[in-house]
Amino acid sequence: MPKKKVSPHLRKHVADRALGCCEYCMSQEYYLTHGFSIDHINPVGNSDPDNLALACQGCNNFKFTKKQAIDPESGTYAAIFNPRADEWKSHFRWNENFT
Ligand SMILES: [Zn+2]
Repeated sequence: MPKKKVSPHLRKHVADRALGCCEYCMSQEYYLTHGFSIDHINPVGNSDPDNLALACQGCNNFKFTKKQAIDPESGTYAAIFNPRADEWKSHFRWNENFT
């Protein structure tokens, strides 16, 4: 397994690129009490910036090492959202009350 250490400089690059928002749920790090993590999109991939995403603890804990999850609409396995390859609005939407 490749070494996965993320330097402080690389962490800042990823956080700045994400504008301080979780790249999965769009929560803003500024308003949360827990610091965000740097997620390896491909959990067995390297620490190249294209394989890294800023993630809140909730999303990071849910995703963990998964690359697929059950799609609640189809009931079949589907690839987990990839913030480097997928468009957020094609996968998620806010409720009418923005929750
Ligand atoms: Zn999140």
